[in-house]
Amino acid sequence: MKIFGRSNKNKKNYIHSRIGFSLKNPLVVTEIQQEYQFINKQKCFDCNSDIDNKVTDHLSWVLYNNKVHDILRCRCKKCGRTYDFYFDYTPTVNNPAVIPFCVQMEIEDPLPDDIFAIAGTRSFGKNG
Ligand SMILES: [Zn+2]
Repeated sequence: MKIFGRSNKNKKNYIHSRIGFSLKNPLVVTEIQQEYQFINKQKCFDCNSDIDNKVTDHLSWVLYNNKVHDILRCRCKKCGRTYDFYFDYTPTVNNPAVIPFCVQMEIEDPLPDDIFAIAGTRSFGKNG
């Protein structure tokens, strides 16, 4: 018998298999309101409280698998656990000519554990 959440690894895999919680499983959206509607429906995996839809970090136009993503980091209102939400805007930005001008960064496998840490070094590194 398998029990969810028995180890951190299982817990992490469980979260990343859910749509909207990883770059490999983004939620396809066409407008920003859909992002907030999604976040407002989520409950914290640890304490079952609401997720605060006040965004603490934000990455736009992340290119992965030739798809354009928007990534929002939010926190649980009660325990403060961090959640990263992944949205696929490819249907909206479906003109390939537009993509090179939109892309802020490109992510390849293996995916970083903390996508915002990687983004920080790229965006604010001394060597640009
Ligand atoms: Zn919580």
